[in-house]
Amino acid sequence: MSVQKVLELIKEKNIEFVDFRFVDLAGRAHHITLPASEVDAETFVNGVAFDGSSIAGFRGIEESDMVMMPDAETAYVDPFTAHSTLIVMSNIHTPDGVRYERDPRSIAHKAEEYLQTTGVGTAAFFAPESEFFIFDDVRYESTMNSSSFFVDSEEAAWNTNRKEEGGNLAFKVGVKGGYVPVAPVDSQQDIRSEMVRLLQESGLRVERHHHEVATAGQAEINFRFDTLTKTADNLMKYKYIVHNVARQYGKVATFMPKPLFGDNGSGMHVHQSIFNEGEPLFYEKGGYANLSQMALNYIGGILYHAPALIAITNPSTNSFKRLVPGYEAPVNLVFSKGNRSAAVRIPVAAVTPKGCRIEFRTPDSTANPYLAFAAMLMAGLDGIKRKIDPTALGYGPYDKNIYELSDEEKKEIRSVPGTLDEALDALEADYEFLTEGGVFTKEFIDNYVAFKRAEAKAVSIRVHPYEYGLYFDC
Ligand code: GLN
Ligand code: MG
Ligand code: MG
Ligand code: MG
Repeated sequence: MSVQKVLELIKEKNIEFVDFRFVDLAGRAHHITLPASEVDAETFVNGVAFDGSSIAGFRGIEESDMVMMPDAETAYVDPFTAHSTLIVMSNIHTPDGVRYERDPRSIAHKAEEYLQTTGVGTAAFFAPESEFFIFDDVRYESTMNSSSFFVDSEEAAWNTNRKEEGGNLAFKVGVKGGYVPVAPVDSQQDIRSEMVRLLQESGLRVERHHHEVATAGQAEINFRFDTLTKTADNLMKYKYIVHNVARQYGKVATFMPKPLFGDNGSGMHVHQSIFNEGEPLFYEKGGYANLSQMALNYIGGILYHAPALIAITNPSTNSFKRLVPGYEAPVNLVFSKGNRSAAVRIPVAAVTPKGCRIEFRTPDSTANPYLAFAAMLMAGLDGIKRKIDPTALGYGPYDKNIYELSDEEKKEIRSVPGTLDEALDALEADYEFLTEGGVFTKEFIDNYVAFKRAEAKAVSIRVHPYEYGLYFDC
């Protein structure tokens, strides 16, 4: 939508307010709202000022003046406000009028521009499958405070979860028992359908929704692929609508990767492919999973850089509680056309040449989508540029059940990092693929690592409830 169209829309729809948003380092949206009467063509040229010093991970107090520069293309009507409000995502500029180097959207744009300069293709497409839980507020409280910290076996976790369900209406979902059962087992059809309705109204093309594998309340809604920055914008819209529909129903939605110990966590698998002038470049009939050499090299880049990449795609201490064996979350740095414990899967069911893509299953929704998609593209492009052969480097393909391999074979397989700190170590040792073409800067990465190290430290110095079970009676 052009600026002109936005201004017309404000008139046509009697929009009362325009809500300007930007995204911080951690991937959270922030907003400042102007009465529509204060918004004109100039607003899109001069921007909207805000104080960058109050935003975690941005500027110091000595240089706090920042400007939101609205991107008219992103405008949509807020489905939740009592007063009709138009939401517009913005880029961040410094007072000197240049793009702010820590603005995640600026990095996403730079990654897209870099792709053009490589000659590899004209567009990279992304489609995230962002899973989440819908909890009752009550259940959320009890999850935070309850004995689930102490539960060690799946059976015990199952019992704990059943108890927390409240009145006995039966048809409970057990641990890992939630994959696509109909109502009354699935009690959240209407909430998800309402989310989908509002997503569609807000301009997203939604493909499907379902109850996910974990016990009551895990959900997934899939929307259509798009280019890098657009998909990150779409994911911000998706999270906003999911959170707020849950709130309308008196529930709470969380994208936290592992809210329940002993049950499946929530991932954000990301499907990716490259096209040239509308032609798919990842497909070649007859190859492994009908993948082209370019797709294999892209996979090589992703897997080779995975330990560093994961500091950006799985950037929370909680992320690593999901990346453990037994819960369909990937642990092994291998690729495969079926295996769900592989970090890279190649979907083969119902796939056309245009739909041919790779699926990186490691990421979760604590990732900042602008940074995560940009970093994955950079890793994949590095693989293409350096012709990284994933098979020669021992990344597979592995189509057997990895748990059934011999110890000797298993030794060959590399794993994802075990903690956020390990991933940050890997990023400090391997970041040049990100700074190629100036997409990420070394200064940005240093600041990002410091920001995340502080988070890991804050968690590690706190006394954990489980420590009472282990040590209190010493
Ligand atoms: N929830 C699983 C994960 O953590 C994925 C389950 C699925 O989509 N098959 O990635
Ligand atoms: Mg899915
Ligand atoms: Mg899923
Ligand atoms: Mg998937």
